[in-house]
Amino acid sequence: MVVRSKRTSAVRKVAKRLAKGVKIQRTRRKAKGKYRCALCGRTIKHEGKMHGRLFAGQLCHRCLDRVLRYAVRAKSEGIDNVPISLRPYVEVAMKRF
Ligand SMILES: [Zn+2]
Repeated sequence: MVVRSKRTSAVRKVAKRLAKGVKIQRTRRKAKGKYRCALCGRTIKHEGKMHGRLFAGQLCHRCLDRVLRYAVRAKSEGIDNVPISLRPYVEVAMKRF
């Protein structure tokens, strides 16, 4: 039986050839997926640099721009005109300002 920690889909098997043609199987952890925007699905670049930013690792810069614009507008006009998909982010952004 395989060791419990290796019985997962996050591990892949890698064939390795040793001296005299002996073949063994090693396991190697799969690479993590890329960070993707929660709204539009684009990959988020420079994730490591932006760790202090609002919604870092969740939203891309385009969607963050939209959220901040709606947040500033919602301060004076109310949250009724904000699209429903953006509301959770706009509510968080409103508390920041
Ligand atoms: Zn986006």
